[in-house]
Amino acid sequence: MSDESKPAPGGLLNGLETQKTRRVNEAARSLHPSAVKDLLSLGVCERCILRLVTVTATFDSDLATVSSSTLRGWLGSGVEEAASPEPSICIVCLGVLQFVFSDAKQTLVKSDHVAWITDLVKQQGHEFDSFVLEVSLPSTISENERAVLLYLKGKYSDEAWLQSEKVSVKDALKVLVLDPLRASLGAKSDSSSFHIRLTYSQASDEAQGLSETKHERKKRKTDEENGSNCMSENPFKKVSEPCILSVHCNKMPIFFGGRYFKYSRNVSQSRWIIDDERMGEASVEEIIGGSILPACLGDSYKFHAAGREDIDVRMLGSGRPFLIEVQNSRKCPSQQSLTEIEEKINNSEKKLVGVKDLKFIGSECWAMMREGEAEKQKQYAALVWISRPLEEEDCNSVSSMKELKILQKTPIRVLHRRSQLERERTIHWMKVEKIKGNAHYFLLHLCTQAGTYIKEFVHGDLGRTTPSMGSILGCRAEIIQLDVTDVKMGDS
Ligand SMILES: [Zn+2]
Repeated sequence: MSDESKPAPGGLLNGLETQKTRRVNEAARSLHPSAVKDLLSLGVCERCILRLVTVTATFDSDLATVSSSTLRGWLGSGVEEAASPEPSICIVCLGVLQFVFSDAKQTLVKSDHVAWITDLVKQQGHEFDSFVLEVSLPSTISENERAVLLYLKGKYSDEAWLQSEKVSVKDALKVLVLDPLRASLGAKSDSSSFHIRLTYSQASDEAQGLSETKHERKKRKTDEENGSNCMSENPFKKVSEPCILSVHCNKMPIFFGGRYFKYSRNVSQSRWIIDDERMGEASVEEIIGGSILPACLGDSYKFHAAGREDIDVRMLGSGRPFLIEVQNSRKCPSQQSLTEIEEKINNSEKKLVGVKDLKFIGSECWAMMREGEAEKQKQYAALVWISRPLEEEDCNSVSSMKELKILQKTPIRVLHRRSQLERERTIHWMKVEKIKGNAHYFLLHLCTQAGTYIKEFVHGDLGRTTPSMGSILGCRAEIIQLDVTDVKMGDS
């Protein structure tokens, strides 16, 4: 019998310990002796008994120090000591609250479990100063707990302690683990973007899952549910093996923002693969994301841009805002290394893509995207070919058009992915720049409302865009090359 089961001898223990002993003794007095005996003989561990039989829904590390021999001590004679010195696995928590579990190789872990978790977390190489602990348990635990409570209600229906709320296995585990884990990781545990997840799974489930069909599993479950209503048989799933515990670390996505330029007419904005064949020689997404990801030691990234341009359209001027979202980053690169990444992209041999203002962004990221979404005006420079020579009065008439309203039906080239609509768009202004030596070509500078299809505005898209440069000049017109030269945001 351990000392904590007896009232503390006055003066020998300090105040704190006396208080603790008093609390534990209070908890002991609140336990229903027959219920405790029943649960001990069913194979429920002392920690589960303290959760399920107490009146007050409290469970803390003081109570967790109560051993099963202490429990038996409280109950006095009549309860036999377990024959084997090794505690058997609790039929409710499946060993979770007894800190009995196997590792991924199904080897029983005998070392201090907090040290074991700490090792695994450190192996994953994350930088963090606070964390959130998540726990995932097999469903058998709640099924067995329900069955045990049902059994107790059948026997002690009018007892007050049965009506009180119970601390779940998950919460009890957090109570037991959080403080030592905080100490061994040297980190706080609060709302953090870094999550440590303890996943307990049943070894037998994994084995069954391989050989059992869906139908068989359903039938087995139904049989078990029916069985659990029958109290004369042992209603609980047999437990012979501890759960397998795995530890996963996950960092919530971090964001980087900036503006990109696209200098090539053979680079798409996002990775573009059709039937295993790459379109274009590279993508903005891969050039930027592929440079940032290694610096973060992340698992993957997503590229978000404010609007887009076609593969054969360059993005010049002040650049287009973008965000890179990095999943499960182990570290956050400094501004200095971001600047180095920027320089590396900008000084690359092929000069397909450029980046500026690359920075780590926190909550600003959505504001930045909203700014991008509110892109109001775009300026372009288009090299245009027309079927007849350009005349002086064409230049004057085109340049004199201000706030020209056009109607655009969804272009044929994007009909497969956009719905058929007719939209009104505004061409704010246009300027014609003649090209010496060839009157069939000219440079058209134009400023349009965002969302205007420029290529269609020039060639008319078989009459789906009216008016068009072709209809204005009364001839065929085609865009040979197109560049975005500026994007104006918001109301600016
Ligand atoms: Zn238990």
